Amino acid sequence: MTVISPATATAAVTPSAEADVCTPLPVLGRDVRVPLVTGGEVTYAALDYAASAPALQRVWDDVAAYAPYYGSVHRGAGYLSQLSTDLFEQSRATVAEFLGCRPDDEVIFTRSTTDSLNLLASVLPAGTQVYVFDTEHHASLLPWQRAEGAQVTWLAAPRTPEQAVAALDVALHGAPKGPKLVCVTGASNVTGEVWPVRKLAAAAHRHGARIVLDAAQLAPHHPVDIAALDVDWVAFSGHKLYAPFGAGVLAGRPDWLREAEPYLAGGGATRKVARRADGTLDVEWHTSVAARHEAGSPNVIGAYAIAAACRALTEAGFDRLVARERQLLGRLREGLAGIPEVRVLSLFGEHSERVGVLSFVVQGWNSSHFAAALSAEYGIGVRDGLFCAHPLVRTLLDAEPDEPGACGAPDAAPGERALNAIRVSFGAGTPDEHITRFLAAVTTLVRTGAQWTYRTENGRCVPAR
Ligand code: PMP
Repeated sequence: MTVISPATATAAVTPSAEADVCTPLPVLGRDVRVPLVTGGEVTYAALDYAASAPALQRVWDDVAAYAPYYGSVHRGAGYLSQLSTDLFEQSRATVAEFLGCRPDDEVIFTRSTTDSLNLLASVLPAGTQVYVFDTEHHASLLPWQRAEGAQVTWLAAPRTPEQAVAALDVALHGAPKGPKLVCVTGASNVTGEVWPVRKLAAAAHRHGARIVLDAAQLAPHHPVDIAALDVDWVAFSGHKLYAPFGAGVLAGRPDWLREAEPYLAGGGATRKVARRADGTLDVEWHTSVAARHEAGSPNVIGAYAIAAACRALTEAGFDRLVARERQLLGRLREGLAGIPEVRVLSLFGEHSERVGVLSFVVQGWNSSHFAAALSAEYGIGVRDGLFCAHPLVRTLLDAEPDEPGACGAPDAAPGERALNAIRVSFGAGTPDEHITRFLAAVTTLVRTGAQWTYRTENGRCVPAR
């Protein structure tokens, strides 16, 4: 095991306890140069962490150190299979510790947050009432209505955290008897605003409901403690947590998971399969929750990478990362506030707690055009659109539900409503310079316009050649 000890693999990039609070963590791609349409090239500024964060160098190094020892999990007699099985199970334990899991909580490795929430939707007891705000990302908005026998109540967008708790309280108060589940995001992938998870969990439990936390955007920016928040499940994705190897996590209460049919039918989920005399199959599924819902060969590299990210963030000092991100966010917000044409989107108002995710529109600009110019002329990568949270963005933009969020729509005339937005997001690997460059680029674009012309191709705005 010594060969893959994280300490030996990554000592060079692990920040020491005395490290400056403002040192970004090393990430892959930090020196990548990209061409500009206007000539020359610049170092790429990755400001789209909310979509997928760059891999931490530390994660990459740990994975590279393990890769030669890679083997099948849970099924091989050989040394490397046993070693990989050990590491896979150790990764589960590391994630459980990172999330502050209770002793009987289970950690299941999935493909992503979307997969985790679909898995949970597939194990809901018959007749479960599900409560979800219509401001959620589609991954937490949509899986429930497909769950057999479940009834979904979509709660209207609250305009303060207090309103969110009160709305849930009212909805649950009038809820019929039987199993109930609340699904809520920890931090919005559109506004970065933090939801009052602990209070929502208290409201849910007061009415006998369970609650699942979509931590896709919270976990990369803030410690998530499942026991302290008193949520029943947490879901997140590795690729947003600096571990882009195709794995995600669902962690929490075992009972619904143990009692339900396996999410996927196949090898690994079964204890015994035999032919009956009548020709049908007698299948005995695993009662161990992880085995039951992880059929097929597990993604051991993905799981190991997530565990490496958990270790890296913990060892770097998550509180220091949070403090640094707050400083960057403060600078970003202050800078944007100085540009009158920019409107920052917010559900909960100016003083709400936020992570490093922020969406805005620019008066007179189509957001797709603006984002394309940031990339082509300044080497800055952001995202534009409706961010897989269509109802929320339309609420924030005050746009009609049936209006298209076309990326290639023409620039809005001054005073006209925007149809989509621009999102800038960052995290543990972002240097101060990226925020400085971003603010300078936004200011120049707003003041002097784009230097290049753009056209629409397959619904996206691209530089005209
Ligand atoms: N929830 C939120 C809040 C998200 O931001 C995302 C990704 N944008 C998801 C869920 C889905 O994550 P994934 O695509 O990794 O399944």
